[in-house]
Amino acid sequence: MTLQAVRGFKDWLPEDCARYHFLIELARNYLERANFKEIKIPILEKTELFLRSIGEVTDIVQKETYTFQDRSQEFLTLRPEATAGICRMIIEQGLYVRPKPLRFFFIGPMFRHERPQRGRLREFYQIDVELLGQLTPYYEVELLDLALKILRAPDPEKNSFTLEINSLGCRECRPEFREYLLSALQDKREWLCETCRERLNRNPLRILDCKQEGCRRIVRELKPLSEFWCVLCREHFTELTELLSFVGITFVVNPYLVRGLDYYVRTIFEIKGKGLGAQDAVCAGGRYDYLLKELGGPDLPATGFAIGLERWALTLWGEKPPQALMEKLKPEVLFIPLGREAKREGLKLVPRLREENFKVEAFFEDRSLKAMLREADKLGVKKVLILGEDELKEGVIILKDMEKGVQERIKREGLIQRLKEELRK
Ligand code: ATP
Ligand code: MG
Repeated sequence: MTLQAVRGFKDWLPEDCARYHFLIELARNYLERANFKEIKIPILEKTELFLRSIGEVTDIVQKETYTFQDRSQEFLTLRPEATAGICRMIIEQGLYVRPKPLRFFFIGPMFRHERPQRGRLREFYQIDVELLGQLTPYYEVELLDLALKILRAPDPEKNSFTLEINSLGCRECRPEFREYLLSALQDKREWLCETCRERLNRNPLRILDCKQEGCRRIVRELKPLSEFWCVLCREHFTELTELLSFVGITFVVNPYLVRGLDYYVRTIFEIKGKGLGAQDAVCAGGRYDYLLKELGGPDLPATGFAIGLERWALTLWGEKPPQALMEKLKPEVLFIPLGREAKREGLKLVPRLREENFKVEAFFEDRSLKAMLREADKLGVKKVLILGEDELKEGVIILKDMEKGVQERIKREGLIQRLKEELRK
């Protein structure tokens, strides 16, 4: 049997590289203008890091991580998200002494053992953005604005994204809600889905955003979390919503929005994309004011978000990459030598053209001219250069325009100038 890729791990074809890198570069451009600095965290961390940050009782840590023992029997985990690793790095590298706010971003693959489906993979890319500094809602609004601008940048005319926000309360008020939740759900236990019955014991908040209709019906009858907010949490949320309106960001307050990670407090949000079905969160994030301290670092409040790259691309373009990006994959010029001498000459000419920034394909094979021109058609090149023995002797080259279907013999010295005129107009 032929070997196949691991389930949920996707190959990136050239077309995928084109669209994903386009989005990554675009995001990087926005982030750098907002003074975010790119960092790299390792793909593997000690399992303990995720137990202590994401939380032992979360779906991610309990069911989704790729954890194994290496050859020295150490427990290691492939990163399921970036925030924990970034916080570890900030502490270990002493980055917290740098001027505040700290602004970092990281782009790379994450690994979660989930059931693969549309928009849900086991290896997927995140663009992860973190801001550490003071606790004001201004930073949150700045970040939300940035996230929305990035997501909308490839297609500013179309509004495919909706922002949903909520507050999870803080250490003061959330336990009260949790207790209410436990008692309110206790006698409804048998109507909950299997996963939520399990969650009841370890992570009851997560029941709030269960996608199953039965659970949803039960959840809709509960008192919302907002009824349990303490004064400070309420003030924070009011200020946040006021500021969002002030800058003209449209949002929906979703009282049932929760996050899968333990470390969030107060503001959390999701940006949903159109056309994604059940897996509709393209970007998610929130505050994690205590995480750094819990990991042994200083008391430094923080907020951040992560964009799921594959889902972002799905919302924008569906499965198919956009035509404009596909055009960029095509070579501009194809060099076809006829005979040994012409091939030798090509070894000098082709790199010379590439140095002039033309995208050049070259055939160094023994096929008929007709067959090679057919290939040229399939490649979608604009210009073909044909060099035969006669042309060599006369110091000329045949320049064929594939769109117009015409060709002419031009002087070799004038070739680069001519290509510039025709391809760089
Ligand atoms: P979900 O509710 O979809 O499971 P989550 O709460 O697990 O999301 P986060 O951990 O906040 O998601 O991740 C942030 C973003 O990363 C998500 O909004 C999504 O775009 C993307 N993402 C998360 N898990 C996957 C996955 N398995 N496959 C593809 N993208 C993912
Ligand atoms: Mg998840």
